[in-house]
Amino acid sequence: MPKAFLIDTTRCTACRGCQIACKEWHDLPANATKQRGSHQNPPDLNPYNLKVVRFHEHLDDQGRVMWNFFPDQCRHCVKPICVTMANKAVPGSMIKDPKTGAVLVTEKCREMDEAGVKTVIKSCPYNIPRWDAEKKMLVKCDMCIDRVQAGLPPMCVKTCPTGTMAFGERDEMLALAKKRLAEAQKRFPKARVLDVPEVSVFFVLAEEPEHYHEYASFG
Ligand code: SF4
Ligand code: SF4
Repeated sequence: MPKAFLIDTTRCTACRGCQIACKEWHDLPANATKQRGSHQNPPDLNPYNLKVVRFHEHLDDQGRVMWNFFPDQCRHCVKPICVTMANKAVPGSMIKDPKTGAVLVTEKCREMDEAGVKTVIKSCPYNIPRWDAEKKMLVKCDMCIDRVQAGLPPMCVKTCPTGTMAFGERDEMLALAKKRLAEAQKRFPKARVLDVPEVSVFFVLAEEPEHYHEYASFG
């Protein structure tokens, strides 16, 4: 049975525990950083940050400040275009694990030329994969596949202290997303769940996706 994540952003406090836990589990180094006038840090996904908590603020219809948080990561798409494009470039360089539904980069990716890499990166509707020049690999969230295969949740989910993140069987996560949406709609009439049929990461948002991130939604 394929797995799925729930990310209920209405509960997220932007503590960034998930972002750091991901770095730790994947043994990724720190990034050089500087103050850019935002609490978001780093400014985008990069080879050392396969997950990044995005910050966005705007005024709502009544002039109130809305401050939205979006823990961004690979959606482990149901029909991943990245896998199709990668396999056109080098067969077997990306796979969708039939058991878990995780979309994974394989060692074969090292055989991909620059044009192939660019095509894969450009194909992702959520702007997720990055090129790691040191490892000479495409990199992105791997669902903590080693943990999941051992019956453990991904590290981001394990770490989240607010119940924003959950992980489990797709059907269970869909049911939970519906429940959380109903709760969220009591406070936020525009609440929604993003792109459910296409993805394995169900984001619950309080309002329109453009108030979170340019690539938050497929549509
Ligand atoms: S979000 Fe992008 S990188 Fe992840 S599975 Fe979908 S197409 Fe591939
Ligand atoms: S750990 Fe949970 S509450 Fe903290 S930033 Fe990540 S999703 Fe949000």
